[in-house]
Amino acid sequence: MKLVNQQLIKNTNLKQIYTCVYQNQGISRAALAKQTRLSKTTVSTLVDELIAKGFILDSGTASETTNVGRKPNSLEIRTGKYYVLVLRWEPSYIDVHLTDISGMTTPVKRLEVHPDDSYVDLSDTCVHDLIPSRIAGEKVLGICIVVPAMIDMNAEEIYTTSLQFSATDAEVIPRLKKVFSDYPVALLNDTACFSYAEKIFARVNEPDFAFINFDRGIGATLFINNVMLGRATASYTQFGHYSIDPEGKQCACGNKGCLELMISEDSLKERLIKRGCTSALKKKSSVSYGDLGQAALYGDLSAAQVIRDIALEFSQALSNLICTVHPKTIIIGGKGHELGVLFLDEIKKNIHNSSFHRMTDSVTIRYSLLDSNSCFSGAMKYFFDIHFQFIQDYTHTFHLG
Ligand SMILES: [Zn+2]
Repeated sequence: MKLVNQQLIKNTNLKQIYTCVYQNQGISRAALAKQTRLSKTTVSTLVDELIAKGFILDSGTASETTNVGRKPNSLEIRTGKYYVLVLRWEPSYIDVHLTDISGMTTPVKRLEVHPDDSYVDLSDTCVHDLIPSRIAGEKVLGICIVVPAMIDMNAEEIYTTSLQFSATDAEVIPRLKKVFSDYPVALLNDTACFSYAEKIFARVNEPDFAFINFDRGIGATLFINNVMLGRATASYTQFGHYSIDPEGKQCACGNKGCLELMISEDSLKERLIKRGCTSALKKKSSVSYGDLGQAALYGDLSAAQVIRDIALEFSQALSNLICTVHPKTIIIGGKGHELGVLFLDEIKKNIHNSSFHRMTDSVTIRYSLLDSNSCFSGAMKYFFDIHFQFIQDYTHTFHLG
């Protein structure tokens, strides 16, 4: 028991040191000791261990002969050695990225998924072909499988309205556990990965914030006191299924008038027609957020009106979210930014005009600063920070969220 506790403490300290170097590249051992409040001797031992394992390097000593002018005792994150393999399951394909633990992500493969294909089998074949052949010499610390779905930790089930699983994948989680028994694996929700990337790479310092992802559906992840609520499972918040019209259209979830149904890209063309508009967009077979945002930008009054309409409905849901958990920053990610500055301005105006001022006046709303690849970097970083262990054998572990 005592040994286990010592190992836990050591692992926590190694993570603390690594994170501190990650956030302050070029930091000295003395400054590390000050920041982490660990003794200089402890810091020195832990730094030596991280250097020996190849996680960090002392650029001063490593570059004495090549880089003139770099101070010795200058610690940096080592890149190009440790990776997390991230597989993102989408409705008709799987994107596979190799993500360096520094955050850099590289696409490796796109696997087409046809109606009778098994997501588990395709992922299994890909990973077991890829790891020995392509990335020999480099180390894969773990595998993340990212899904646009709610992950039920207790029932060990995935609930999704966008992925169509074949009969082979009837029991996705037990099958994943079986085929990936030789690697540490984390099954993560996609919005949670985007939100974690925003927190780390776009440096969100606000401890209470909400990240709202506009994709096929609308998802949200909440951070309260710097902790992701309900881990990366999307099981605590289903913001997209907040009803804004009890008499509205029937949603696949069982509810009526769900936000993601009412303001999704699929709803845009119908909304334009209902507005009796003259917009050129009516000729298109489908209208995307990007189409609408562009048209509004170049003076299409009908497109601008539809943006105002959906901003109003979104604001209503957002105002209720603010009253429930009071996030001080709200970040709109995914395709949301394609709706342009008008959408954001309208939301700010609506929230300011009609809501519980004591709650909403302190809220900042902005678009995400990252692109769509941040899902992979976020998954890697979440896995590394939450599940990866420096010293314990964690090979046969499977994490939900
Ligand atoms: Zn719904």
